[in-house]
Amino acid sequence: MSTGTLYIVSAPSGAGKTSLVRELIQRTPGLGVSVSHTTRSMRPGETDGLNYHFVALSAFERMVEVGEFFEHAWVFDRYYGTSRVEIEKRMALGEDVILEIDWQGARQVRAQRPDAVSIFILPPSRTALHERLAGRGQDDTETIARRMRDAVSEMSHFEEYDYLVVNDDFNAAVGQLEALIGAERLRTKRVQAENPGLIEGLLSAQPPLR
Ligand code: 5GP
Repeated sequence: MSTGTLYIVSAPSGAGKTSLVRELIQRTPGLGVSVSHTTRSMRPGETDGLNYHFVALSAFERMVEVGEFFEHAWVFDRYYGTSRVEIEKRMALGEDVILEIDWQGARQVRAQRPDAVSIFILPPSRTALHERLAGRGQDDTETIARRMRDAVSEMSHFEEYDYLVVNDDFNAAVGQLEALIGAERLRTKRVQAENPGLIEGLLSAQPPLR
């Protein structure tokens, strides 16, 4: 795999992760998002191949058997996974790549790529989270309570992540994510790799060429 940075972004449902990542990518050249495979059905407004690769359970299980996934997990009664081909394709373009995955997938990625940078997005309050999860008031109390439990379960893993971003003000949160990516791009090893010969030239005892 090439030298681009791999970012893991996790959040409970209702924290605004997908919108944040979409805006971040629009604002940041050289940053892409990996399209996951899932066995859940398509929601209105979603497109196959864009939001997810929607596949049948049997197809997903076959991909697991033949080792096609970089990571995969059973999340809220459905399978989700990142295929190796997907990451390699993005990395080959020289991009930094974001994986929007849950905490179980994050663990698998860290085990294989300890240099991956992980970010957890939190909602600004329990009330705000509840409002987001209750949606348009069309779901019953038990469904909403279940979503809250699932969200709390995901959030309980926040300490496993390198960075925490609280999505209170949307623009501020995107700005924080941009700052974070900008700083990672200035890591010594990366700047050195992207400027071959620069440091050697600067440190050389030879007089500069005219
Ligand atoms: P949703 O069905 O609402 O799009 O996503 C549900 C959950 O699945 C989210 O927590 C999301 O981060 C997680 N998820 C989406 N794609 C992947 C993936 O490829 N791998 C893993 N491990 N989790 C994923």
